[in-house]
Amino acid sequence: MSRLLLIAFDESDLNSCGGFATALGLPYDALLLSGNSTVGGEKIFQAGLTAIPTADTVAGLLAVFVHTYSHVAFVSSMRSKDLAARIAGILDAAMITDAIGIESPTTFLRPMVAGAVIATVDAEPPVFITFRPSNFAPAELTAGTVVPMGIEPAPGSKVVKASAKTAGRPDLSQAKIIVSGGKPLKDAATFETVLGGLADALGGAVGATRAAVDTGIAPNELQVGQTGKIVAPNLYIAAGISGSTQHMAGIKDSKVIVAINKDGDAPIFEVADIGIVADLFDVLPQLQAKLPGARS
Ligand SMILES: Cc1cc2nc3c(=O)[nH]c(=O)nc-3n(C[C@H](O)[C@H](O)[C@H](O)COP(=O)(O)OP(=O)(O)OC[C@H]3O[C@@H](n4cnc5c(N)ncnc54)[C@H](O)[C@@H]3O)c2cc1C
Repeated sequence: MSRLLLIAFDESDLNSCGGFATALGLPYDALLLSGNSTVGGEKIFQAGLTAIPTADTVAGLLAVFVHTYSHVAFVSSMRSKDLAARIAGILDAAMITDAIGIESPTTFLRPMVAGAVIATVDAEPPVFITFRPSNFAPAELTAGTVVPMGIEPAPGSKVVKASAKTAGRPDLSQAKIIVSGGKPLKDAATFETVLGGLADALGGAVGATRAAVDTGIAPNELQVGQTGKIVAPNLYIAAGISGSTQHMAGIKDSKVIVAINKDGDAPIFEVADIGIVADLFDVLPQLQAKLPGARS
C-alpha cells in the first residue's frame, strides 16, 4: 500500500511539510528526530534526540524503520539530502532531490541546470524525495497519535560543535523579508552593521552570496543560491550582488526583488522588480534611517 513518511529534523522542519503531504495525497505519518509535535499525520514517531547525529550514524537505523513506506520525504537541505541519499542507498531505492511539483505519486518535477530546465522525473516506489516547501501551497498537517521511539545512533563520527549565527533573526528558508549582500560588503563587521541593521529594522533575515561567504565576509549558513539555501520571501533586497545564475537559482521564487548595484548593466537588474543604480553604502543606511526601530 502506498504511504508517505515525512522525516523532519525538528518542529520547524515538520511544519514546512504540510503543502507537500497534501499535494502528494497519500496517507502519511511523520518521524520527528528532535522536538515534539502533535501534528504530522496519523502517527507521529518522536525520536527525542537532543543532538542530531551525523547521517552515517543514523541512516542504517532509519533504513530498518522506513522500509515499509512507499514514499519517504524530507524538506530539502544539505543535511536532509545527506541522510536521504544514505538511506536510499541502503534500500536500493530511487531518490529525487529538490522536488518542486508533483504530477502523480510516481512523477515529480525538479529543477536542473540552476533552474534553467525543469525535469519531469518518474520514480517507482520506494522513493526518497527532498522537496522545496515554497513550491507547494501551504497546508496544515493533520493531528495524530504520538509514538515515542528510541534511536541509539551507532558509534562513528559525531558532531563536536554546531553553531548558527542567526543573531535571533528568522530562518532564511522561512523568512518573509531578506536583506542579502555580496562581495562589496568588505568584511564581517561591515556586513553585520550595514545589512544586519537594515534586516533588524525590517524584522527580516540576512543572506549572502557565495563570494561573500568564500571571502569570509558572511558565515556559510547565510549562503543563498544553487549550493546554498533556496529562499522565497515576499521581499528580497540584493545589495552589491551581481546576479550570477547560481545566486538567482536560489531567489527566483521571491515575490519582489529589489536590487542595489553601482553597475547599471549588472545582470541582477534583468530580474529585479525594483532596481536602484547606486552605491549600497549610501542607500542602505538611508533606508534604515527611515524605518521605525532602526539601530542608532
Ligand atoms: C558550482 C558553483 C556553485 C555556486 N553556487 C553559488 C550559490 O549558491 N550562491 C551564490 O551566490 N553564488 C554561487 N556561486 C558563485 C557565483 O558564480 C558568483 O561568483 C557569485 O554569486 C558572485 O557573488 P557577488 O555577486 O557577491 O560578487 P560579484 O560577482 O563580484 O558582484 C559584486 C557586485 O557588486 C556590485 N558593487 C560593487 N561595489 C558596490 C557598491 N559599493 N554598491 C553597490 N554595488 C556594488 C558590482 O557592480 C557587482 O555587480 C557558485 C559558483 C559555482 C561555480
